[in-house]
Amino acid sequence: MEQYIMTIDQGTTSTRAMLFNRRGEAQFMAQREVECLYPKPGWVEQNALSLWVSVVDVVNEVLIKADITIKDVAAIGITNQRETTVVWEKSTGRPIYNAIVWQSRQSDDICDRYKVSKKVIHQKTGLLLNPYFSASKIRFILENVPGAEKKAQAGELMFGTIDSWIIYKMTNGKVHATDITNASRTMLFNIVEERWDEELLNLFQIPFSMLPKVESSSYIFGKAAFFDSNVPITGVAGDQQAALFGQTCFHKGESKNTYGTGCFMLMNIGDKPVMSKKGLLTTIAWRINGKTTYALEGSVFVGGASVQWLRDEMKLIRDAADSERSAKMIADSEGVYVVPAFVGLGTPYWDDEVRGAIFGITRGTSKYHIVRATLESIAYQSKDVIEVMKKEAHLSLPLLKVDGGATANRYLMQFQSDILHCTIKIPKIQETTSLGVAYLAGLAIKFYSCLDEIENIHQYREEFLPKMSISEINRRYKGWKKAVAADRVFK
Ligand code: ADP
Repeated sequence: MEQYIMTIDQGTTSTRAMLFNRRGEAQFMAQREVECLYPKPGWVEQNALSLWVSVVDVVNEVLIKADITIKDVAAIGITNQRETTVVWEKSTGRPIYNAIVWQSRQSDDICDRYKVSKKVIHQKTGLLLNPYFSASKIRFILENVPGAEKKAQAGELMFGTIDSWIIYKMTNGKVHATDITNASRTMLFNIVEERWDEELLNLFQIPFSMLPKVESSSYIFGKAAFFDSNVPITGVAGDQQAALFGQTCFHKGESKNTYGTGCFMLMNIGDKPVMSKKGLLTTIAWRINGKTTYALEGSVFVGGASVQWLRDEMKLIRDAADSERSAKMIADSEGVYVVPAFVGLGTPYWDDEVRGAIFGITRGTSKYHIVRATLESIAYQSKDVIEVMKKEAHLSLPLLKVDGGATANRYLMQFQSDILHCTIKIPKIQETTSLGVAYLAGLAIKFYSCLDEIENIHQYREEFLPKMSISEINRRYKGWKKAVAADRVFK
């Protein structure tokens, strides 16, 4: 009897393999750092073959650590850095250019050409015209690799996001497919009609023949023939969508926030897309058994990074954990607000030019106030995004599931629960991305029988309940809004 689901999480900084048992517990893990290349300022690339090598390495290592063979694996799930683009030759399976990483700005100029179409792009894809997404990256490769344009027209090239690239390699070139969540990040996929969009393909001059087949997120993609095995790949999802699934946000309105360097929020909005007017992205959360679920997505640029700033630049704390002790040295932030707009502000302000500020300082203000107000700013910024989500999706938020490094901070978590007036739950397994794709892969082969079973086995580490009165929430949040407004005047 196979005992494990194996997951592969191919991220921007590392590749991980994990083994999950039937209770959804992570049993073994192997990890490799992966290298980023910076050929020019603003450009970020990775060697696609090296990424594949890192996958092979972690798969072998995790099997050795668990003292099993691949035959003990029931199915494989793949989750990945989204939008990152690989183009390879059909005949040889060799990439014709480095993988262009999501953050890379090298197709900025290309995007400028399509400005007149930005409305139609948003309506069809739920995305904002930006070099982040794959479409302009594919165009960049076709224009910059000699002969590529011609080869693409002749049907000799293949495009894939990282999931697609791994599936292709793992099936020894038999399967050229992607899952619908990854497709929804290419800016070529119509998320309303759930198909590659002809008009967008024409716009970006990308031949249909390059594109992978789009499948559900929980689906039998093919066999891991590269590992000399019949183990099927049965779950695939982009990292943020996988995290939403791994947090068991299966029902409309359920949401997760990841508190890392920045904060990343996704809200399950059910089976109909809602197009945002305030700069949130609309994306496909997953498709299971032919049923598609959508999500709204928003982010905060500076989350845990502000704690690093307190430590490294301001030298107000020794380490990240010290921020909690410092915050608790005083009973209140006493009207001090830190607006960490170090790189501008995102949702719902969309202000590139604003920079950070501290408000409300008195003769009695100490470093503890600054530290406490900085932690509070992470919660306020997350509230800013979540309030827009609630409003646009016409949903309430009784519960927020959280993960990421800064969830270790119990002061921050309690304040977040207070200021959102909702319960916060932290899962036992922090690797929600891998867990999500383990669930998706397991569902396809009945390793996990249904969503109810997953909800039953899913475990939480800690819960925070709101304690602040509504009038107090309003008073404090009004202060935050005033601070942001005042800050935006100073440019
Ligand atoms: P990423 O995946 O973006 O690298 P992680 O999930 O690893 O992020 O979280 C790292 C971030 O969490 C850092 O910005 C760090 O400052 C913050 N962090 C870690 N521990 C704490 C803590 N106890 N309190 C506040 N912030 C913390």
